[in-house]
Amino acid sequence: MRILVLGGTTEASTLARLLAGDVRFKATLSLAGRTNSPRPQPIATRIGGFGGVPGLAAWLAAERVDAVIDATHPYAAQISANATEACRQVGIPLVSVVRPCWQPVAGDDWHEVASADAAALAIGVMPRRVFLGVGRQELHRFAIAPQHHYVARVIDLPAGERMPPDMRLIQARGPFEREAERALLADSRIEVVVTKNSGGTATFAKVEAARDLGLPVIMVRRPGKPASHVVSNPEEALRWLAEVRSPSRRGV
Ligand code: NAP
Repeated sequence: MRILVLGGTTEASTLARLLAGDVRFKATLSLAGRTNSPRPQPIATRIGGFGGVPGLAAWLAAERVDAVIDATHPYAAQISANATEACRQVGIPLVSVVRPCWQPVAGDDWHEVASADAAALAIGVMPRRVFLGVGRQELHRFAIAPQHHYVARVIDLPAGERMPPDMRLIQARGPFEREAERALLADSRIEVVVTKNSGGTATFAKVEAARDLGLPVIMVRRPGKPASHVVSNPEEALRWLAEVRSPSRRGV
């Protein structure tokens, strides 16, 4: 069975590992090409956009793909919309791995906002010291609130876009540890943390550290992401694939 995994996440890397060791499947991992040096993967990997729905549909047909796993990030809404439509056009099944959201616990001071722009405004008028854990692609949005001091963590450095004037960049790739995150926030005298609700364990430590230090968290809400069959982890996606593949399900 030929599988396309749309990746760029921990789940996609786990799927690549699981699929590499499974003779029932011949899988390709697709990455957008956002990171300069992605981790090497044990299955065939292609990098770069397909060219919208028509490009993806043509690729799926040309490669005779039997099923697609959408294991993209919860905030990568465009590729998921494209995958849903392309799979519909080609007539193949799609399963989406959607990590559960992080949930606040008693005592947490979370402020949910709809976008990075809204997050920038929600920090407030008075200058504050802000930790940005929203990814490189959103940093330029904070230029509308130039009065703050920002500490932003990124995998690759931003290029080209206008950034807020007072921003310190820290280049690092998760997973991150709670204690180290607490030290980072305390040493940088951070007053507020801004993050996406990415879910998963790799980047949760900054939220736990904010909890430990009693800091408010501005949480950018997830966008609506189109999906067909939803599972919450890679193992479930593989079980679903095995079901789709089995003769009892064919023609259903
Ligand atoms: P997006 O807005 O949904 O996608 C924009 C375009 O990038 C798509 O239309 C597609 O181009 C291309 N693309 C995205 N994912 C792709 C993939 N896996 N393989 C091939 N092309 C892909 O996505 P994004 O927010 O730019 O995120 C890009 C990638 O980074 C995703 O794979 C995502 O999982 C990962 N990521 C995103 C975030 C985030 O917060 N957004 C965080 C961590 C990781 P074409 O239309 O030309 O096909």
